[in-house]
Amino acid sequence: MVKGIHARNICALAAGSLLLYFPGQILIQDTLLKQAVQPEMAEGGDTVQSWCQPSVKRHGRFVNPWATWTAPGLGGLMKMVFKEKKPSLPTTEEIEARLPVIKPDFECLSKGPSPTTLSTVWIGHATVLVQMDGLTILTDPIFSDRCSPVQFIGPRRYRPPPCSIEELPKIDAVVISHTHYDHLDLTSVKKLNERFGPSLKWFVPLGLKSWMTDVGCAEVIEMDWWQEEPYSEESNVKFVFTPAQHWCKRTAFDTDKVLWGSWCVLGSTNRFFFAGDTGYCEAFKQIGRKHGPFDLAAIPIGAYCPRWFMAPQHVDPVQAVDIHCDVKARYTLGIHWGTYNMGSTEPIFEPPEKFAESAKQKGLEEGEVFVLKHGEIKLIEKD
Ligand SMILES: [Zn+2]
Repeated sequence: MVKGIHARNICALAAGSLLLYFPGQILIQDTLLKQAVQPEMAEGGDTVQSWCQPSVKRHGRFVNPWATWTAPGLGGLMKMVFKEKKPSLPTTEEIEARLPVIKPDFECLSKGPSPTTLSTVWIGHATVLVQMDGLTILTDPIFSDRCSPVQFIGPRRYRPPPCSIEELPKIDAVVISHTHYDHLDLTSVKKLNERFGPSLKWFVPLGLKSWMTDVGCAEVIEMDWWQEEPYSEESNVKFVFTPAQHWCKRTAFDTDKVLWGSWCVLGSTNRFFFAGDTGYCEAFKQIGRKHGPFDLAAIPIGAYCPRWFMAPQHVDPVQAVDIHCDVKARYTLGIHWGTYNMGSTEPIFEPPEKFAESAKQKGLEEGEVFVLKHGEIKLIEKD
């Protein structure tokens, strides 16, 4: 069945991409947006504070202030969609054997192994559930069949979510990294909001609050790069929005009007870093210097080929290991792979293999970087 739907997926992907990207790309022909903005913020001494600058906007749109960035152009996108050969999906049997989906044992989490343990569950793609310091946090929640404005076209799942929103334990906070459809899913946001209401806090990038409140979310905390907010007045857990090299778009005319980034969740016992979706940039060393070390990081390892198109916006597994080292993570979970057909050209089982290989080459200990099955839980005990 999977093989049979492959051609349809490619057509859907091409149509969906063009539908979304064409008008927006015509709008951003501004050369300021086509090139990297030179890092004025880097001048004036290499102290941590000199780097921890708020986001930058040009002509009403946020920009990436690093020389490692180039915006995805229209020509490149057309070449990517129409000329790059996409690998065919393996058979359903092979996918099921190599990417099993297991029901998460939330009972085990609710019993709470010990107050100092950090527990994590990979729900799929960039959706990760983390329990630490008395809070349950969800990252970029998506449970829908497609990551698209509509459910009849656009990138489709080849692995189902391991649980429904109804089956989740009580969620205290959600962090959103950016507005692309595979990270900000309207149906999932609405369902989470219906279930948890104002007891759920949404930590979101600058420019997204009005969208969140329009869909009914009550407790929305909108943040700029390096801004810090406690979970609540009594809480000892702090949320910090930190940079990432990426971009935002949901409609023809909203390119980069909302900020993108990564999240640090800093408790008195555990520290968690969520990279969101990102190309490699120097911000990660600064994040490590200012907020590291982390007990756990979740870093993207998929959707990285072809490099000529993907490199500015998506790290490859080798760079994911670099980020693991930059932010000073004790353990890193590889995310953003093995769930949706995102139209990238690497074979679907390749990301974890390259991730492990590159960690070994870098001399990391076995298990320091890892992947989980969909729905699998990992407990990280304090030393
Ligand atoms: Zn993504």
